[in-house]
Amino acid sequence: MTSESIVVLLLLFAAAGAGWFFARLTGRAEPVAGNGTAVNPDYFKGLDFLLNEQPDQAIEVFRRMVDVDTETVETHFLLGNLFRRRGEVNRAILIHQNIYDRADLPKAQRSRALKALADDYLKAGLFDRAEDTLRRLADRSGYEQLALEQLVSIYEQEKEWEQAIAVQDQLASMSLSAANPVVAHYYCELAEVAMSREDPPKAREYLRRARSADRNSLRSTLMRAQLASAEDDDKLAARLYRNALERDPAFAAIVLPAMRKCYRSMGDLDGFARLLGTLVKANPGVKSGIAYAAIVDGGFDDPVTADCIGEFIGRNPILTELLEIIRPPHPDAGTEVDSVRRITQALRKLAVRSPAYRCQNCGFSGQMLFWQCPTCKSWGSSRPLARFQFDASIA
Ligand SMILES: [Zn+2]
Repeated sequence: MTSESIVVLLLLFAAAGAGWFFARLTGRAEPVAGNGTAVNPDYFKGLDFLLNEQPDQAIEVFRRMVDVDTETVETHFLLGNLFRRRGEVNRAILIHQNIYDRADLPKAQRSRALKALADDYLKAGLFDRAEDTLRRLADRSGYEQLALEQLVSIYEQEKEWEQAIAVQDQLASMSLSAANPVVAHYYCELAEVAMSREDPPKAREYLRRARSADRNSLRSTLMRAQLASAEDDDKLAARLYRNALERDPAFAAIVLPAMRKCYRSMGDLDGFARLLGTLVKANPGVKSGIAYAAIVDGGFDDPVTADCIGEFIGRNPILTELLEIIRPPHPDAGTEVDSVRRITQALRKLAVRSPAYRCQNCGFSGQMLFWQCPTCKSWGSSRPLARFQFDASIA
């Protein structure tokens, strides 16, 4: 037991003794046997244990004392929370359970104890117990939403997506909100499990539900495309990829290489080049996405892509200067293409070491796309960067 814990325990006993004494003065305490003093003998017994550094016995005595005196309940909460913060979770649980078990305490105090118990179990990593406790707490006035939100976070950690969906439904019924993008992600997670078990019909069913939860779910569209591609339905896959790209051009670096693969399988790379032209015409903003995808992928060789890369370099002062440096004094068309190619190759090497995605919520960045941010746990917050970081510290 830490010295801080002992001090708090001492204070606790002081408060318990004072509370008991006060209760005696106001005539609310139980009569005391025999010795004629106005102090609960347990109080001294507890102090004795403390002074002899026997905190477990001291706590046990203290628990018994609380059965007599309800005025120490705040101090109990203090002590319980202190133990939890110090990592002495078993003691915190003992104290909070003791408060909760007291049927004569006001309901609000018992609910608070239940919440504290849930926090103790979470801190201890005892998810099953935390889940049970939160389920009970969800029925208590004032704690419904908080308890359900904590349950969701447990189910997410445990990857129990069906349970998470059920609780999100409960939360939605409370707030009367309709579409829930997070629920769409849960269905996508379930679809991923089904895909890994080679069960495409099940995966399709989950993806259909993901779409009903969130009509704009980009992830479910990408997964449907992936599924179609795996089943050699390149036409459907290409259509879905195009749909995803039109909705969110920032994902070009993922979508375009996959889309090109579909067109190549169909023997229609010219069709892919034409499609790029159509996309650029409809939305010139997609150009930098195409350039980035082409630089990173390296497999694009059509005129639209070359044009997009040219613009990409032209918009970046560092790249433009680099192009000037490596460009021969009297460039012809051939050497110009060669200079651009050299810069593109250098950028490809840089892309491997640069973060490709960044969470819009907390700033976490990395090479991999996480649909749930590993740091702040928010869903769908990671966005492709589609640019290069010219960091002087890169070796
Ligand atoms: Zn984040």
